[in-house]
Amino acid sequence: MRTDNFQAPDYYNIDELLSDEHKIVRDAAREWVKREVSPIIEDAAQKAEFPKSIIGGLAEIGAFGPYIPEEYGGAGLDQISYGLIMQEIERGDSGVRSTASVQSSLVMYPIYKYGTEEQRKKYLPKLASGEFMGCFGLTEPDHGSNPGGMTTNFKDKGDHYLLNGAKMWISNAPFADLAIVWAKDENGRIHGLIVERGMEGFSTPETHNKWSLRASATGELIFDNVKVPKENLMPNKSGLGAPLGCLDSARYGIAWGAIGAAMDCYDTALRYAKERIQFDKPIAGTQLQQKKLAEMITEITKAQLMAWRLGVLRNEEKATSAQISMAKRNNVEMAINIAREARQILGGMGITGEYSIMRHMMNLESVITYEGTHDIHLLITGMDITGIPAFQ
Ligand SMILES: Cc1cc2nc3c(=O)[nH]c(=O)nc-3n(C[C@H](O)[C@H](O)[C@H](O)COP(=O)(O)OP(=O)(O)OC[C@H]3O[C@@H](n4cnc5c(N)ncnc54)[C@H](O)[C@@H]3O)c2cc1C
Repeated sequence: MRTDNFQAPDYYNIDELLSDEHKIVRDAAREWVKREVSPIIEDAAQKAEFPKSIIGGLAEIGAFGPYIPEEYGGAGLDQISYGLIMQEIERGDSGVRSTASVQSSLVMYPIYKYGTEEQRKKYLPKLASGEFMGCFGLTEPDHGSNPGGMTTNFKDKGDHYLLNGAKMWISNAPFADLAIVWAKDENGRIHGLIVERGMEGFSTPETHNKWSLRASATGELIFDNVKVPKENLMPNKSGLGAPLGCLDSARYGIAWGAIGAAMDCYDTALRYAKERIQFDKPIAGTQLQQKKLAEMITEITKAQLMAWRLGVLRNEEKATSAQISMAKRNNVEMAINIAREARQILGGMGITGEYSIMRHMMNLESVITYEGTHDIHLLITGMDITGIPAFQ
């Protein structure tokens, strides 16, 4: 079992920008990750299993619906607290953070924003406590970066909707109690439906043999003439903007989460470099390794400032989707580069499960692809600054 000696870097005293509540929430999540995630996560990743035993703990630290109002079971926190929780969880593992992101931003958020009061009362408290786990079905086998082309559809059959189609690459799908499913009506307009496990014709086969996010369960959603009750349609928003609104919230969380993975790699590499003796001196005393470490802390510091500022804008409800894209893209690339450099600092030891770096590196290969690929976020920035979409 790995000992977790993590010490968080804070080169620019960013703690001084945080409120007491932010620090209390962050420290509780940090301690919980040290106690409950670090001891088991390597084993779970090696076995390719999501560790369900941590669901209750995730709920307790406010990771399920951090910013959902307390009347619906959420933690009622602000956007910076939400970001800090994601940072700490991803410091442990991106797969665990993925589960929390999906539950909060892709399941609870749409029910809260687009659902009826009955849907909020029925689902949100159980999702906040982890009694219900959810997943979010947008991506299809033939429609990834272009979800607007989806073919999953539903027809009005009088007293119910009849849902057909398939989704793939869906986090939490294999064990989720319910799925937020994006599908087109007979006029081609996209709506969100709440599909519950047990509905006839609904199945969730698991996707095996991933080299990345191994401690997160991924699967398909298959709908074969599924009868969905009419009260399960979320009526308050339709069109592609509805799922994209959820993705804004999740991408914002990823911009923070990636910092956690980067911090863990940097902290591990710094400690190792100071202890590892080659040519009669610590490798940390060589210029080449100092260059790597100095650039890592510089990039982490820039990413921290970006995430914090974005959090302030989110709290003021002023953050644009394009600003969120920029932070997600920058911070995930920053983290994956740091993971690769940190892995080299550890030499051969860097490829073993004794250290978290290789797991972070492999995880980040998914994080840089999901919730909008690295390329697509660049095109979003390009469109924002030129006014010209380059997607087609
Ligand atoms: C582990 C994992 C978990 C996931 N979880 C979920 C989930 O819970 N729910 C969900 O709905 N989806 C989920 N996804 C799906 C994810 O969001 C998609 O993989 C992602 O959107 C990219 O789609 P794609 O894989 O089909 O790639 P494609 O869209 O086929 O893209 C392939 C490549 O082409 C590039 N490309 C595409 N279009 C353009 C263009 N116009 N110009 C230039 N380059 C372009 C992309 O950047 C990429 O490099 C998950 C994926 C993974 C790997």
